[in-house]
Amino acid sequence: MQDSGKNNKEKPGASTDPLSPERFPRITGIQKPFELILNSLDDILKKGSYWEELKEILDSCRTIVEIQLKHAESLPELSVITNEIVRERFDGNTPALRKEDFLVYESEFTPLVKDILLAMGAAEPDTETLGDDLLKRFIGNAGELLDEIIESTNIDDETLLIGLNSAYQVFLVNAAAQIRDDFEQDVWENGFCPICGTGPEMGRISTRDGHYYLSCALCFTEWTYPRIGCPFCGNDNHSELAYFEAEEYKGYRVNICRKCNSYIKATIEDDLNRRHIPVLDALYTLELDSSATSEGFHHGEISFSGIDS
Ligand SMILES: [Zn+2]
Ligand SMILES: [Zn+2]
Repeated sequence: MQDSGKNNKEKPGASTDPLSPERFPRITGIQKPFELILNSLDDILKKGSYWEELKEILDSCRTIVEIQLKHAESLPELSVITNEIVRERFDGNTPALRKEDFLVYESEFTPLVKDILLAMGAAEPDTETLGDDLLKRFIGNAGELLDEIIESTNIDDETLLIGLNSAYQVFLVNAAAQIRDDFEQDVWENGFCPICGTGPEMGRISTRDGHYYLSCALCFTEWTYPRIGCPFCGNDNHSELAYFEAEEYKGYRVNICRKCNSYIKATIEDDLNRRHIPVLDALYTLELDSSATSEGFHHGEISFSGIDS
């Protein structure tokens, strides 16, 4: 147990001495997320410590993750991009990985999407409609792709989007895990993920190193962010930033920004008593989202492409 009083002070930064207690990873993440999610889901489902309506969502999540894990384990070893290019992009303040890097997995993508859609109960997706170039079309214009597929099949857009994103995630997670360690001591000051450019799903207050990390639910990267700061609008005025907690959700809080009216849920590591898993913790605390939205706040949004427009 650490004395929280001692940890309130922000540390000056990483020491160059690897054994120094001041050393902490600025960019980190979950190495084998699908395994971890599956085990944790089984644990939650076994305990039954959730509200009834959530069971269906957790079951459906489990089905998808099981397929993701199976594919992740049989993924051919392909180098998607050189270390020099990812470093160059990162140093230029843009995410290290881009969707087009994954075109090397084009032939793996369509069957994986099909597997996930079938497991989600979608009617047999027509392989011709999905096409061999599904990944290229997904990268090019996801909105257009969704419209085209929805028109010629009876898959709904939400199921389709989950199928596409979950398949893409298998390749992304693999590549992110391979490069992430190279950025462990780098500073990233943006609200979006340094590795894939997605906005943060949640935050994590680390009681071990006293830092606040934002977490990406797509590639499972975490990066340090100022505790007094809104990742969505950059507001650092403490009088406009606050949080609320709910008694039933020990280890969780909801950070709110009164400037952009956004919120982000966060976990408090010591109180949670297990590792924070963004997808799972987000699902498990859906009631906190309802509380936040009923107070007029919306889930904050930011992404790399959003910055450009
Ligand atoms: Zn990411
Ligand atoms: Zn804000």
